[in-house]
Amino acid sequence: MSKMKLKPGVVTGTALQDLFGYLKSVKAALPAVNVIGSHTVVAALQAAREAKSPIIIQFSNSGGAFFGGKFLDNKGEKGSIAGSLAGAAFVRSIAEAYGVPVVLHTDHAAKKLLPWIDGLLDAGEKFFAANKEPLFSSHMLDLSEEPLHENLEICRSYLTRMSKLNMTLEIELGVTGGEEDGVDNSDVDSSKLYTQPADVLAAYDALNSVGNFTVAASFGNTHGVYKPGNVKLRPIILKNSQDHIQKERKTASSEPLNFVFHGGSGSSREEIREAVSYGTVKMNIDTDTQWAFTQPIKKFMDEKSAYLQGQLGNPEGPDKPNKKQIDPRGWIHLGEKGMAARLVEAFKDLNAFDQFDFS
Ligand SMILES: [Zn+2]
Repeated sequence: MSKMKLKPGVVTGTALQDLFGYLKSVKAALPAVNVIGSHTVVAALQAAREAKSPIIIQFSNSGGAFFGGKFLDNKGEKGSIAGSLAGAAFVRSIAEAYGVPVVLHTDHAAKKLLPWIDGLLDAGEKFFAANKEPLFSSHMLDLSEEPLHENLEICRSYLTRMSKLNMTLEIELGVTGGEEDGVDNSDVDSSKLYTQPADVLAAYDALNSVGNFTVAASFGNTHGVYKPGNVKLRPIILKNSQDHIQKERKTASSEPLNFVFHGGSGSSREEIREAVSYGTVKMNIDTDTQWAFTQPIKKFMDEKSAYLQGQLGNPEGPDKPNKKQIDPRGWIHLGEKGMAARLVEAFKDLNAFDQFDFS
């Protein structure tokens, strides 16, 4: 099969659905990386450039707020809205300079965070009116803590609004274990960590006629990196769900759904490839890239410790200046390079390395 051609810039609407279809046909998925500022965005774009692949850049609620600055008041999600919009504007303004296609997305929005998404959709509708394309490619709603019927009802109403903007909705069924962004699911009942095919069918029936959606299903995946515990990764749950929907609704495709793998950090290539082989098109990665950003900076601080005790004075002499070591551009760029290198590995794990033609 020839490589899919894509232009640099933000991928939305039917182009995004075509991208998901291509990924499934070549058994590949894209990394979705949580960003918190311009430095993590450029690390993500550089990794995509090296991998010759599109990348999914996403803002969590607190990551969006951090993008705008923790100094902002987040009452009524104002800081998260302003920061996510600033981040989206930054990605849109710089992606073409890096020459890579980007899917712009927002991460988990639980019920109490819906005002954040409301604010982004208000801005998204204005953007659409002016530009005939959505500001964000997609948003995620995570109502997995609510009863299934309520989860799907709310998702259906948001997808109705988002479809008019050619947007895609990511939903969550079942619970991703572990802890992230202050949401702690580390002691949740283990049966909830595995999504049931019947629930996936209910979601398909509720949403398929309304618009485009992806499903974050639970198959024992956890946020964060922990010592192997009681919960086993069972990607076969994804295949069972695809088969169930194909059989019950006689879909033309044997893989009618696009799945999202949350909590990708710490997973082996074999586990990742198995999930991808069942129609996973997106894998979230956060903890591993956080570590990849921080680790080279820690090394620098340790190695240059004697040069970082004051503006003057180091092992070379009491009056020697330390300006070169103090300049944040030096050590922040080490973090950017560490994060970019880790993401290149993720592209390889996900079989997305060099699968596209940008010419
Ligand atoms: Zn997640």
